[in-house]
Amino acid sequence: MSFRATILTLYPEMFPGHLGTSLAGKAMERGQWSLDTMQIRDFATDRHRTVDDTPAGGGAGMVLKPDVLARAIDHASENDHRPRLLMSPRGKPLTQKRVRELARGDGVIIVCGRFEGVDQRVIDGRDLEEVSIGDYILSGGEPAALILLDAIIRILPGVMGNDLSGLHESFEGGLLEHPHYTRPQIWEGNEIPAVLTSGNHAAIAKWQREKAEELTRERRPDLLEKPSGKQTGSR
Ligand code: SAH
Repeated sequence: MSFRATILTLYPEMFPGHLGTSLAGKAMERGQWSLDTMQIRDFATDRHRTVDDTPAGGGAGMVLKPDVLARAIDHASENDHRPRLLMSPRGKPLTQKRVRELARGDGVIIVCGRFEGVDQRVIDGRDLEEVSIGDYILSGGEPAALILLDAIIRILPGVMGNDLSGLHESFEGGLLEHPHYTRPQIWEGNEIPAVLTSGNHAAIAKWQREKAEELTRERRPDLLEKPSGKQTGSR
């Protein structure tokens, strides 16, 4: 079974973007995941192929029309039980935990918003799960969808060269990851911490754990406090 992503967008030319290169691109060539795009505008019925209209109640910008978007969503999800996501700054912030859950499924249908966003009735009526990639505003959902897919694809079985390396990263154990070093042994007068070249695996593991805790305390104390920060990896 391979992971299937369907993207509903006004800018299908933005895909697969960077996901067509590097490990994700190779995995796509091997058939480990696939992507198809649907042009929302193809579901407009008027002569001008209108997809947006002015916001009810006034104000700046435009809103994606519910009728057009719903037709696109219905077309994409016919006989299909993949989760339907809407990229949205009002959504639940994306976490590695949600990424893992999505990666275990058959795929996703992702709606990319534009303008001021989409009519609320289509979010409710088509049961769209709103997903945010952070507390800032993008001009459209496309880069957010690429980021979400990037996070999913890299953990699909067999995609990363070394499958184990996915298990020790920031967030997987509820902590930020320890710092990394590589040769040269001395660079600009700074040496690699001696413990890392000692060959003592227990001491190395202890050092890495301590550094991870120290960094997390300093930068992301919220990960230590909230129970939601304690995420169960797939180990
Ligand atoms: N007026 C909206 C922002 C619209 S931005 C508001 O203030 O909430 C246009 C589109 O970009 C959105 O519909 C959404 O699809 C996408 N987008 C913008 N910021 C995003 C974010 N942080 N995460 C996910 N999608 C985002």
